[in-house]
Amino acid sequence: MPGAKQPLVTTAITSRGCPHSCPFCFTYTKQYRVRSIDNILDEMEHSISLGITETFFVDDLFTPNAAWAMKFCDGIEARGLKFNWGYKTTIAGTTREQIRRCKEAGATKIHFGVESMHNEGLAVHQKHCDTDDVHRVFKWCREESIRSVAYIMVGGPHETTRDSILGNLNEALKLDPDYAAFAIYTPYPNTPTFDEGAKMGLYAADCWDRLMKDPLCGAEVPVVWEEHLSKEDLLDLLKICHRKFYFRPKFIARQLLQLESKQELKRLASGAISLLKLEMLKADSPEAPV
Ligand code: SF4
Repeated sequence: MPGAKQPLVTTAITSRGCPHSCPFCFTYTKQYRVRSIDNILDEMEHSISLGITETFFVDDLFTPNAAWAMKFCDGIEARGLKFNWGYKTTIAGTTREQIRRCKEAGATKIHFGVESMHNEGLAVHQKHCDTDDVHRVFKWCREESIRSVAYIMVGGPHETTRDSILGNLNEALKLDPDYAAFAIYTPYPNTPTFDEGAKMGLYAADCWDRLMKDPLCGAEVPVVWEEHLSKEDLLDLLKICHRKFYFRPKFIARQLLQLESKQELKRLASGAISLLKLEMLKADSPEAPV
């Protein structure tokens, strides 16, 4: 797991649904419900008793509001629990105080659903923030010494050319998170985004229904947004994003400087070997310069 500090890491879920309504997301409008803080901390105590001292909370959104996050941190300290943890959240609603408090209570990394590094993209994805907010939050993470991960989408209604996607990548490089997870913009069923694409004729509105009823019917479901760029183009751009981010000397140097244990060095080395193997497999594929 990127950014893990401990040799044994587990995952946990504290909530389902999300109070936000990003139109591309399949948790869109799903009712938010959360476990009690005591119940979550009981699970953490059990994990620690098994020797697992790091947990990544894989909730769609771990910090529904600042007050909940503060209470969670208070609970960790009240029980004297010592473990590292990380979580996923949004730029909108994140405060410096929240980052600092989570760090004090053991958090070591935060994953942010940034999605776009352009204001137009942030508006399309309804992230309720602008690029200044994004830069501010990642700066807070650096200043509070907590690792940051940026989720960035590739392609979509507002990214009409290869240059616009590569421009987004360049802005993500300037943001300089510890890690970045690039992913193709995918119209998931039962989302406003999916309905919009179906109305535009990018795919059949009933494609998922037909496929679910008969997996052998041959219905094609959309995995990319092909309004402006082809699937091949988008997959090629996705590869470029990963290469340009992870093969930077600055990224490699930072990883080495942040090493705190032999286990981290081992994990880094095995990740680098996997990446190199992948690159060797793809050596014959063309790449456009950024
Ligand atoms: S993308 Fe994240 S913040 Fe937006 S609705 Fe989905 S889970 Fe919630």
